[in-house]
Amino acid sequence: MKYAIIIPDGAADEPLPELGGRTPLDVAKTPNMDRIAMEGRQGTVRTVPEGFESGSDVATMCLLGYDPKVYHTGRAPLEAAAQSIPLSPTDWVFRCNLVTVIDGVMVDHSAGGISDAEAQKLLGELSRHLNLPGFEFHNGVSYRNLLVYRGSEHFNVQTKPPHEIPEEIAAKWVPKGQGAGILNRIMDESRVMFDKHEINEVRKDTGHNPATQVWLWGQGHAPAMPKFVERFGVKRGAMITGVDLLRGLALLLGWENLNVEGMTSFHDTNYAGQGVETARALDQYDLVFSHVEAPDEASHQADWKTKVAAIEHIDRYVVGPVLEKISTFPEWRILVMPDHPTNIATRKHGYAPSPFCMAGTRVKSVVKCTYNEANAAASDLKIERGHELMDYFLRGGNL
Ligand SMILES: [Zn+2]
Repeated sequence: MKYAIIIPDGAADEPLPELGGRTPLDVAKTPNMDRIAMEGRQGTVRTVPEGFESGSDVATMCLLGYDPKVYHTGRAPLEAAAQSIPLSPTDWVFRCNLVTVIDGVMVDHSAGGISDAEAQKLLGELSRHLNLPGFEFHNGVSYRNLLVYRGSEHFNVQTKPPHEIPEEIAAKWVPKGQGAGILNRIMDESRVMFDKHEINEVRKDTGHNPATQVWLWGQGHAPAMPKFVERFGVKRGAMITGVDLLRGLALLLGWENLNVEGMTSFHDTNYAGQGVETARALDQYDLVFSHVEAPDEASHQADWKTKVAAIEHIDRYVVGPVLEKISTFPEWRILVMPDHPTNIATRKHGYAPSPFCMAGTRVKSVVKCTYNEANAAASDLKIERGHELMDYFLRGGNL
């Protein structure tokens, strides 16, 4: 049995006036996703349990079959796993975004998608300048970096993901609670240090958002998750993604991470390369999980044109070749779904249940209609406890 799971991150949305009351997923030409929905089934799944902030950390953990209420300790520890940063049970990890705050307003959670080299230089200088015992900066991809704390300070802080507060007054959302003092000091000092920094001067001159400061959030200790094979009996799993968070989840599940030349988290990613590699990996692995971040980032920028284009590219260059390849195996199943909605109107992650479609061996077709939010919601297939979806998928839709 071969399984493929393809995640167009944040692809689901709400009807937009710019699109004549339709959603980007509905407007996008997606013949391959439509075929999966028509020959198989579509429905909705609640991937963000009540009480959780909507994000790929929670939603992906959930759709992978792990209840976030049991296993989620924070976003940053998952990314630390991706970077193979060793953590003892008492260590803390924080996400350390480079962000753009202008006149006190959170303008961009990604500092204009700053390059790895620029991020490394800024954080290196900040680390040397602060010289705080127990704190280590670790560079990730672009604006997504980590701060590890190994020491005796205890944190009981409320923090806010910067992508959840676009155009809001940043000062309203700084860390609060036990241990917040030191975190705010780090953020304040970065603001002073990065102001007029040559990297930012060049970014402004070339029309890019500057990295005005770091933003700390997503903190937690290392999670303890059972391996995927122990939980579901599927042996060889592989992950293909451009983001550290999912690479970390894969390692915690006992999967391998596969690389694709030119894979990024934006619309400039190598879609075709990812499609070829996902299809190829099916020869070697029992389950291949292929994640594309581009629709999510386009939504955060309120860029519906790029969002539609990203969804069409995923359909054509990833879903198409993977569907063609997987159906050559005697037994197979494919699942396509966004982990969570990301809404153009608010530039934030949404809380609506995610539309999914699946097809393959022993998945019975019920209603024949194309894949989109409305058709999925009209289906009687509604999975309220999102972590039950994986079992449903692996058993072939016989709930
Ligand atoms: Zn997002």
